[in-house]
Amino acid sequence: MTAPAAASAPAPKPEILDAFTAAKGFMPVDEGLALYAAAVAAGSLGLPLLEVGTYCGRSTVLLADAARACGVTAITVDHHRGSEEQQPGWEYHDAEVVDPELGLMDTLPTFRRTLHRAGLEDHVIAVVGRSPQVAAVWGGQVGFVFVDGGHTDEHANADYEGWAPHLAQGGLLLIHDVFPDPVDEFTGQAPYRVYLRALASGAFTEVSATGSLRVLRRTGAGI
Ligand code: SAH
Ligand code: MG
Repeated sequence: MTAPAAASAPAPKPEILDAFTAAKGFMPVDEGLALYAAAVAAGSLGLPLLEVGTYCGRSTVLLADAARACGVTAITVDHHRGSEEQQPGWEYHDAEVVDPELGLMDTLPTFRRTLHRAGLEDHVIAVVGRSPQVAAVWGGQVGFVFVDGGHTDEHANADYEGWAPHLAQGGLLLIHDVFPDPVDEFTGQAPYRVYLRALASGAFTEVSATGSLRVLRRTGAGI
């Protein structure tokens, strides 16, 4: 079974789009709409939708609504301590998401508020942990993998290696922050290299590109 292409583009309801734009996070609306359409397409496989990189739940709102529409569940994985570039003193730091007692990043409370306000808590399983560790104990197949976690080569490759084997044939692999031109983004080109790696494996076929979001379909056996 193959997820249909996202061309027939289902769009989220205005209140869901409002919850998405109101949430802290790192995804513009055009990419969010592409993410949503791909999630609905993949949801027809009847398998969970998996996200690496919850942060404050901006993209998760769209995945949760797509999951609800398809009668499946969204799973979102994050250690909630932030990526390298989100630590104090770095470009993407937000002092509002620091635990005042520990002095460490903690995006989990903000994420929970985002989901609750959007009325989507029942459609998401939030896993707090390191992506490769979760992937290593993950038992089942998923119909959709959205990689939006750490931007180092180590993290981006580990996300791919951990989750791509769990992706069903015909399912969709999405990679965020793919910047073919090195001048475009401060966070580097590791996601771009993972995108090239996925295509080179022969296991994936490109479906679409929107901004820095790439949508690939699993069409082959090797990873
Ligand atoms: N999808 C979000 C943005 C994610 S930002 C949005 O739409 O706004 C990247 C997130 O990945 C951060 O919250 C960070 O804590 C998380 N992250 C980075 N490396 C990780 C790892 N190895 N395991 C789990 N989460 C990780
Ligand atoms: Mg991103």
